Amino acid sequence: MDRQELQKLRELPIEGVAERLGLKVKHHKALCPFHNDNHPSLSFKVSKNTYRCYVCGASGDNIDLVMRHLHLDFRAACRWLADEHNVILNEWKPQEVTTPLPDKEGLGVSRYERFFERPWLNEEARKFLFEERHLDERVVRWCRLTSWKDKQGVPWLQIPYYDREGKLVGVQNRNLVKGALPRFRFPQGSECGIYNLPVLNLLKPGEQLFITEGASDCWAMLSSGHKAIAIPSATLLTRKDAEQLSIINPQLSISFEMFPDRDAPGERLFLQLKEVLPSLVHHQLPPDCKDFSDYYLKRKT
Ligand SMILES: [Zn+2]
Repeated sequence: MDRQELQKLRELPIEGVAERLGLKVKHHKALCPFHNDNHPSLSFKVSKNTYRCYVCGASGDNIDLVMRHLHLDFRAACRWLADEHNVILNEWKPQEVTTPLPDKEGLGVSRYERFFERPWLNEEARKFLFEERHLDERVVRWCRLTSWKDKQGVPWLQIPYYDREGKLVGVQNRNLVKGALPRFRFPQGSECGIYNLPVLNLLKPGEQLFITEGASDCWAMLSSGHKAIAIPSATLLTRKDAEQLSIINPQLSISFEMFPDRDAPGERLFLQLKEVLPSLVHHQLPPDCKDFSDYYLKRKT
């Protein structure tokens, strides 16, 4: 785990982390899970993103809280945090292809092309996409989402990444078992940069294009009737991605829009994007919605 990843994890709001651990947070306080507590004596310092119990003395940052509460070591706690908050760790990312791409049988992702010709959704995938996320069927078809089971019987959602010309450049596999790790798997040679680039070909002059964080926010945005692309989930913007963004038809006078996640990494991504796309418009999510998927679901259900 590198420094940037750790910083990202440490910035995840501690009260949100506490809630995901099952603590009830009210007025920056909660019942302390580390001693027999009747009055909330665990308090959170939002400015420092730390916690402290005034009775038993337990204290630390959000990673310490996870370690102590779930009895995990440092690394496992970091993985749990990343998984719960949609942060893709480098160790889950595609492996670099170190050997030059050989023949047609080679290591490129084109060998996966046939999987997306006739997308097929198993029960787990349908449940995930339609029952849990309430996505529009046309969006799922447009994105050519498909599914498969590995030898151990684990169901995976397979998400293809295309370039603007419609050539398959990357594949992201998402584990459909709740909470199971690894959450993502990428075949060798995958280049999962900006998601849903083919939508650019459908843009009309003056139209809005929403920029989201991660494929699942992109599906929610598309399902609510907007055109959208996604920056790979919670990774820092690469130079290649930035370049691709900056050349999106300046002559079409597209209006770029964004609902940043309601946390520090979300706002940082907005600022980074704003440097590349100075006209990028900031939309604020309501306080009870952490990201656009959340917002979409709350309006839908
Ligand atoms: Zn305590």
